[in-house]
Amino acid sequence: MAHNQRGKALNQGNKMIKKENIIFTNLYGNNDVSINSSIKRGDWKNLSKLLKMKKQDVINAIKDSGLRGRGGAGFSTGMKWDFMPKTIGRQHYLVINADEGEPGTCKDRDIMRNEPHKLVEGCLLSGYAIGASKCYVYIRGEFFNEANILQNAIDEAYKKGFLGKNILGSNIDFDIFIHLGSGAYVCGEETALIESLEGKKGQPRLKPPFPANVGVFGMPTTVNNVETIAVIPTILRRGANWFSNLGREKNTGSKIFCISGQVNKPCNVEEELGVPLKYLIQKYAGDVIGGWNNLLAVIPGGSSVPLLPKEDCEEVLMDFDSLKEAGSGLGTGGIIVMNKQTNIVKAIARLSKFYKHESCGQCTPCREGTGWLMRVMDRLAENQCSVEEVEMLEEVTYQIEGHTICALGDAAAWPIQGLLKHFKKDIIKNIQKKNVA
Ligand code: SF4
Repeated sequence: MAHNQRGKALNQGNKMIKKENIIFTNLYGNNDVSINSSIKRGDWKNLSKLLKMKKQDVINAIKDSGLRGRGGAGFSTGMKWDFMPKTIGRQHYLVINADEGEPGTCKDRDIMRNEPHKLVEGCLLSGYAIGASKCYVYIRGEFFNEANILQNAIDEAYKKGFLGKNILGSNIDFDIFIHLGSGAYVCGEETALIESLEGKKGQPRLKPPFPANVGVFGMPTTVNNVETIAVIPTILRRGANWFSNLGREKNTGSKIFCISGQVNKPCNVEEELGVPLKYLIQKYAGDVIGGWNNLLAVIPGGSSVPLLPKEDCEEVLMDFDSLKEAGSGLGTGGIIVMNKQTNIVKAIARLSKFYKHESCGQCTPCREGTGWLMRVMDRLAENQCSVEEVEMLEEVTYQIEGHTICALGDAAAWPIQGLLKHFKKDIIKNIQKKNVA
């Protein structure tokens, strides 16, 4: 835990997000998802007025709000939009990353299922800001029902005149198309997603050029995550100040956290960034199975970030900077809880198998390294490794990290690095015990 952050957690004494600040009011699907019901909840309100804003004013408002991408990287959304060329000589595209393949993460799916109009309206306003008149929503193929719900919401918006040509007499044209992917994890990486959208094998591209210059079909493109885009209309309606007053400095706003693993009530919940991890688990997920003292470790940001042992979970805050300082990351906000009944080596070995399966094979360190990591982790889970191999395992993760085209190499390395950082002593003790016996 970053000690200088103690006492700075948001709303000390009353940590729960205030009801009036919740963006996703239908996250649990308690109301129907039709456009009329969504309008009653505040979606599409003052659309004409919002479309009268200058493009740069929309970008500036999002910059001022402090919104950082909710897909994992945490980069400033307004700044990303500002990278797009300002002259509209070529077709600009907005692409929504609805691939959501990160283990432990299921927030974008719930947004599409229960709040599709927030996403559709967000596409229109974001596309307008970056000068795009066309938008693709790239949805993983397994989310077939969610794609149907979203398509229905898009059709409803066309019927109301909120999409299509000359929207509400504004002279703005905007079309949205859904594209179903085939369930490859690496297609969550923006350039692999673009390749896949173009009908090619989903393999990440070398950067530069960046998508803002050469994106889908060679045109300027911005790729944003579902949750990021779905909060845009509310920020524009309620103001950048409102959003930036939620959460903590440089980690503003609210976020949907997905809590899974060994908790009594796995759930998705919207909370302010900077909420203490312990509070989230106890308040919303009914605590760790067997009680808080039965906690072993938590992976706080989807499977690709390093785990935190119990002692680090006591006070850590759930935001980009606090988790980075604690040696992990916010990632997608997918919190995977492991209690003392978990065989943690086996759990991380399972993740190694996943990354090996999902490597696209372009870079040698990832293609060869993920398979090697998986095989050693499998043997480690059976306590079949020597102490030297454990040291070698750690070293190899550092040879993969940072030496590949995309972040999948890092994602394969970090869970093992987290495991060895916090549990190496126990692992070595086990090996020595076996050797004595
Ligand atoms: Fe493909 Fe892995 Fe290289 Fe990414 S890091 S481009 S997944 S081989």
